[in-house]
Amino acid sequence: MKKISIVISAYNEEGNIKKLYDELQKELLKVKDVQFEILFVNDGSKDRTYLEIQKLIDKDSNVKMVNLKRNFGHEIAMTAGMDYAKGDAVIFMDADLQHPPLYIPQMVKAWQEGYEIVLTKRIGNVATSKFYKFCAKMFYYVLNMLSETKIGESMPDFRLIDRKYVDFLKNFNEQDRLFRGLLSWIMPNDKVKIIDFVAPERFSGTTKYNFIKSLKLAIDSITQFSVRPLHLATYLGFAGAACSILLGLYVIFEHFIQHNPTPGYATIVSVVGFVGAVQLITLGIIGEYIGKIHIEVKKRPLYLADIIEQQPKGGKRDK
Ligand code: UDP
Ligand code: MG
Repeated sequence: MKKISIVISAYNEEGNIKKLYDELQKELLKVKDVQFEILFVNDGSKDRTYLEIQKLIDKDSNVKMVNLKRNFGHEIAMTAGMDYAKGDAVIFMDADLQHPPLYIPQMVKAWQEGYEIVLTKRIGNVATSKFYKFCAKMFYYVLNMLSETKIGESMPDFRLIDRKYVDFLKNFNEQDRLFRGLLSWIMPNDKVKIIDFVAPERFSGTTKYNFIKSLKLAIDSITQFSVRPLHLATYLGFAGAACSILLGLYVIFEHFIQHNPTPGYATIVSVVGFVGAVQLITLGIIGEYIGKIHIEVKKRPLYLADIIEQQPKGGKRDK
């Protein structure tokens, strides 16, 4: 029988684990001819998430936990889950019930029909404000303008991926990773299905993405998939030089032709300020890339984890 792994990344989600498990059970019963493995990734939670998952493992041998030794972040948590998943396909989802298990039977059906990647698209989101939606739109606009790899808007990390593509994805060893981008990199032209869904509010707890984390994710997303900002830095340099030359010509013209010398002080301050700013921006952009190289060349392991599953009766449990 075919097997599907459901990978759920959880960071401080104590109030959601049991509810999510119950909802999953209800939906998975509707799917025939498939065996499920539920793989929670505990991303170094500081609350009772570990214990809540442990309770489920004790009563259900299909539940397992990849326990990360500290918080590594959502992208790495999904990677760890993918590495340990044994299924013929892997479904990724969040732990806060914003990715409703209700849609899993449809996703599996599409896979059984031959689709190799089943994506979901948020067509509505009960939880987000107009301002958030506006920011998200701008973010994807800038990202897709700057990046060579196109990333779809409103395509959350709720998706099914066939083993063939899971194995492809495992070849990407970069530290700094954006799953959405990697997936778009390997995306085939066919056998991809998109299922629309409405994201409800988070069942319990609060979002783990504050403004700073989201901004970092935005910058990372651009630098991971594109060197266009470096080109932009070069263009800025040229534009700055062109402005300075034009200004110089204007000053010469005023001085020798119009006999109306431009007072030097204000012009010098503004030119120096402008050139300084362009240089700082340029250095900052180069610095972003050098920082990434610095991190990537070390080739450190992506995470530190162990797997926790039901032990045969009388066996010792690992922590
Ligand atoms: N998450 C994680 N590690 C982190 C931050 C988040 O595993 O460092 C998980 C979190 O528990 C949730 C999912 O990633 O299951 C998405 O996070 P969240 O709901 O906070 O993001 P939002 O839906 O608000 O964008
Ligand atoms: Mg959420």
